[in-house]
Amino acid sequence: MLEARDVSITLGGVSILRGATLTVAPGRVTALVGPNGAGKSTLLACLSGALRPDRGTVRMDGEDPAHLRPAVLGTRRAVLDQSPGAAAPFTLTELVELGVPQAVAPAETRRITLGAIHDTGLSRLAERPIDALSGGERHRAHLARALAQRHAGKHLGWGRWLMLDEPTASLDLKHQASVLQVARRCADDGAGVLAVLHDLSLAAAMADTVAVMHEGRVVVSAPPAESLTPALLARVYGLEIAIAEPRAGLRAIIPIYPSTTGDHLCSSP
Ligand code: ADP
Ligand code: MG
Repeated sequence: MLEARDVSITLGGVSILRGATLTVAPGRVTALVGPNGAGKSTLLACLSGALRPDRGTVRMDGEDPAHLRPAVLGTRRAVLDQSPGAAAPFTLTELVELGVPQAVAPAETRRITLGAIHDTGLSRLAERPIDALSGGERHRAHLARALAQRHAGKHLGWGRWLMLDEPTASLDLKHQASVLQVARRCADDGAGVLAVLHDLSLAAAMADTVAVMHEGRVVVSAPPAESLTPALLARVYGLEIAIAEPRAGLRAIIPIYPSTTGDHLCSSP
């Protein structure tokens, strides 16, 4: 299991997590949703061992990830950050290879790298420099690096956890779905996947569990039909929400946007 229990953290004098509790199970896709600033990335950083909370406990397979050496941690879990670094001097293949630890033999490194590039639909661009990719392609390249890290971890006997912070940001509709399909395959392969998502319909369609964060706490963590209710979403997002069921079992979560008329900076005087 991967779990954060009653985790609190203050950064720069600001209380960001205030008793957040979340369990991520192996073989499952867990979506973490909530408004900007709710603490999703901070909670993911605590779960990945990148941040140490002030209070509460984090356990990854029974151990505190913040106490593991970076090389060990790198085999246990793979992470896609919300804003991955530039990686300018590399080709796509070189970037993805960076996800594979040195301990993996060259032939296996090659196989894992090419597999991750294939899974993200980037084979055609494999030798392209990273800075010659579109924003969405670059995002998928970083996702491929995280997948390569997860597969390499599994090759070394671990690779239990895959944590993706907004993996579908800047992707078109088809690529958003294919990212979640890749996440599902990793879960079917035994990994516990935690994905921060903003598209609630995508979370409802693709995740086993949806956890909703609000003001530094996880307010619900349950199957999507239980956690994504209009009343809770309206409270958390401050927006009226309708839920449609265009096909049996498929729930579309639709914000009812407020009228745009009224006094705004851009309105004519
Ligand atoms: P989310 O991913 O849900 O959008 P984050 O976890 O990134 O939210 O951030 C939660 C809140 O904490 C935000 O209001 C953010 O500005 C603030 N925050 C994050 N990191 C720091 C920091 N190092 N110092 C001060 N405030 C921070
Ligand atoms: Mg974030």
